[in-house]
Order: sequence, then structure tokens, then C-alpha cells
Amino acid sequence: MSNGNGRLKLALQKDGRITEESIALLRAAGMNFEFTVRSLFSPCTNFPLDLLSLRDDDIPEYVQDGVSDLGIVGANVVEEKGAKVTVVEGLGFGKCRLAICVPRNGNLTDLGSLRGKRIATSYPKTLGRFLSSRQISADIVEISGSVEITPALNVADATCDILSTGSTARVNGLQPLLTVMESEAVLIANEDVLESRANNEIDRLLTRIRSSLRARGNKYVMMNAPLTSVEKLKELVPGMKSPTVVPLANRDLVSIQSVVGEEVLWEVIEQLKRAGASDIVVTPIEKIIP
Ligand code: ATP
Ligand code: MG
Repeated sequence: MSNGNGRLKLALQKDGRITEESIALLRAAGMNFEFTVRSLFSPCTNFPLDLLSLRDDDIPEYVQDGVSDLGIVGANVVEEKGAKVTVVEGLGFGKCRLAICVPRNGNLTDLGSLRGKRIATSYPKTLGRFLSSRQISADIVEISGSVEITPALNVADATCDILSTGSTARVNGLQPLLTVMESEAVLIANEDVLESRANNEIDRLLTRIRSSLRARGNKYVMMNAPLTSVEKLKELVPGMKSPTVVPLANRDLVSIQSVVGEEVLWEVIEQLKRAGASDIVVTPIEKIIP
């Protein structure tokens, strides 16, 4: 426990790309708090949890040292800082990759061609580990921002930078050569706090966060179907796990209810219709508690 007052601390990015979705996740998990960019400290009013807003670079170390019990930060930052923390859960947002990019139409065309070249990055440790694991020695030029312009300035021959769509690289005449790591926002925890479970509030909080994560990307689907087609429906629809079948007042009909993944939803609905389902209702799911 990081302080003596029995309240958990969770560090999140103060003002950046993963701030909004971190807040949305905590709210979806039922946490009630006010959050402004200016406040370092946001207490939850309905749970013993205080939010700390920080530069994302500081989050892994603060969690490692127990200044904060938990944190939400990009996996790329955890990797770069080499912090000893437990990664509790991937959160499914802030997806990006750390990639080596080279000038388009240049003579750097594979990993081997990077030998002895200058590579600019804000991720020197991650890049260094990657290169040495592949026996490539190159000059790592540490730059804190706007890495993509360094080849044009002749500060570097290539870059190693975070990409999501790759459009920033493209407009700067660069193209990705290879991926160093895939990343997403992760929930991290202080190792001691998690192991000792000195604070069982942490389990309560994790249960709530996980129940919201599980609900994401799923829909609840209800439909009517002739009794005779139930077996066919169950078998036809791979997206449906053990559906609930409820008899209706009309004995020839049943109501079928199930959870369906959003990415296959329309395919499933089309199959259901073909198999005789009607009056299909799709609703969002807020939480799934196993
Ligand atoms: P801070 O001021 O907190 O230090 P930052 O400038 O270091 O912020 P952001 O640009 O806000 O960081 O990015 C935060 C995280 O969002 C990144 O570490 C990465 O995990 C993730 N991310 C997702 N997509 C992108 C992207 N296209 N570019 C940069 N980061 C991205
Ligand atoms: Mg940062």
C-alpha cells in the first residue's frame, strides 16, 4: 500500500493520446470522479481510489516504486522504462507499433542494411535491445520528439518511432521497414501490492474493470424463432455460445438470447434470419461478470 489511508492509487496519463479512453474505462467500471487536466489528484467518490495524473513516462516507475499501486500506460512505455511491474491486463485501446522506418526509394531495404547507420528514436533502450538481439550494431540517436523529420535533416538515416496508421511517416517520405514491438494501453500493478493482496480493494477494482472490458465488443441478441428451428439455429451460429432458450405464450415459438461478438454480428444476424429467426433485437452490454 502506497499510503496509510487505505485508498488505492491509480496513475493515468494526464493529457495525451490514451487519457480519454483511460477515463472512459474507469467510468465504465463504475468509478465516479471529476477529472480535469489541471488536477494532479482526483478522488473517486464511490470507491477508495485516487487517480494521479502524470506524464506517461513517469507512470511505470511510480508503479514500480509503489508511489502508485496501479497505472494505465502504453506497453511501449513499460518496455522502454524496463520497469519491474506486473502487467495485469491489455486494455484494447492505444494500439500502435514501434517500427523502424527508412526513406522511401533509398538503399536501406532490410535489417542488415542498417549496420553502422544512424537511427533516431525516443525509444533507445527498446531499439538497442532489439538490434543487439539480432546482432546489428547501429548508432542510436536519442531524440525526444518529431523523430520523423530527422532523416530529412540528415540527423539520422532511419527512425524507430510509434506508428498507428503510418501516415506521419509517409508524409515525411518514410516507410516502415520492420516492427520492433506491437503495443496497446495496459493496466499495470505494483508487484508487492498485487502479490500480498494487502489491500483487497484491488481485487474489487480489478473485477469491475474486467467486467467492463469483457462487455466491450459484445452485443446481447434476442430473437424469436420457431421451436422447430432451434437446433438448426444453435448449430448454424458459431458466434453464439450456449444461448438461452425461453418458451413463449405461442407454443410454436421460442425466444433465443445470446451474447455475440460485434465483429461477427452482421454475419450472425444474416444466418439467423435465413434459419427462421425474426424480431431480432440487438442491445449493448454494460458489464459481464463471470
Ligand atoms: P506525455 O506528455 O504524457 O509524455 P507523450 O507525448 O509521451 O505524452 P502520447 O503521444 O500522448 O505520449 O502517446 C501516449 C501513448 O499512446 C503512446 O506511448 C502509445 O502507447 C500510444 N499511441 C497510440 N497511437 C499512437 C500514435 N499514433 N502515436 C503516438 N502514440 C500512440
Ligand atoms: Mg511521454
